[in-house]
Amino acid sequence: MLDHMTGGARIELDNLTKRYPGQDAPAVENVSMEIPAGELVVFVGPSGCGKTTTMKMINRLIEPTSGSIRIGGEDVLALPPDELRRHIGYVIQQIGLFPHLTIAENIALVPNLLRWPKAKIQARVDELLTLVGLDAGTYAGRYPKQLSGGQQQRVGVARALAADPPVMLMDEPFGATDPITRERLQNEFLRLQRELRKTIIFVTHDFEEAVKLGDRIAVLRERSRIAQYDTPARILANPADDYVASFVGGDATLKRLALITVAELRPRPGDAAGLPHVPGTATLRQALDVMVANAVQEVACDGGTLTFAEICAAAGRAVSGVR
Ligand code: ADP
Ligand code: MG
Repeated sequence: MLDHMTGGARIELDNLTKRYPGQDAPAVENVSMEIPAGELVVFVGPSGCGKTTTMKMINRLIEPTSGSIRIGGEDVLALPPDELRRHIGYVIQQIGLFPHLTIAENIALVPNLLRWPKAKIQARVDELLTLVGLDAGTYAGRYPKQLSGGQQQRVGVARALAADPPVMLMDEPFGATDPITRERLQNEFLRLQRELRKTIIFVTHDFEEAVKLGDRIAVLRERSRIAQYDTPARILANPADDYVASFVGGDATLKRLALITVAELRPRPGDAAGLPHVPGTATLRQALDVMVANAVQEVACDGGTLTFAEICAAAGRAVSGVR
């Protein structure tokens, strides 16, 4: 069951509804969507719009009132909940590491439940700590309170990945960290996902985070109803309505430029002497920042130059929604 698709499995929600006892309005109402295998989909919406309820229905911490959920074509509601949860990694803002267990024991929870041999578990713990950027020799034997918040958050991600689940649910996982740690976690997480290609639902109320991380974004309104579900570039270029536009904000063009790297524009060879330099990995938004800061209309990049006009042209191309 779900074992054969560790690389990612399609998730299908069909008319998913949750009505909590004693509440007039449903918390989640008739949500239908498909999340392609191996994609990272971000749910963005205001507090209380039903994001957590939707996630918890997918791993059956909450039973839906009606509707259906399929993962890799299998009816989730027909599977035993404990069994199901071993195949779904879950990361939450509060991290939820067990304080009386070491870092290694926390990461080994699900492999232990699955009765993996000891040697295999130890190797997996070491591998995962390395994967999330923590030295196994230093951290495996420590307790959660001996780690910083950002380090604990990485352990939370490692624990969710432990049994190589096809699906990961991440509920505001970086919400409690400071901006610098948060940016580092985002970058490392993106690098990981490029390798692992899990099917991930990632919840945030931060639209910038959604643009940065998402293959697609679902902008949600109350009761988790979908206002728009599309790629970041297309949502930025064509917000479906005023509600979505309010998330995008007044700097949609700059946000679009943040989706394109300098290297992607393949800067033409040119005379770079005396120009400020930006690396190929920088975004066009960062290149523009360097231009404004230096009051110039051209910058040097690895092997060439890039002009203000070329950045404007790239923004124009992004508008047509080709990306
Ligand atoms: P979000 O994660 O988007 O902030 P939630 O899914 O936590 O939203 O909550 C959606 C709505 O359901 C809110 O109005 C919340 O008050 C309500 N709610 C959440 N959990 C419960 C519960 N256990 N019982 C009753 N109402 C709940
Ligand atoms: Mg929530």
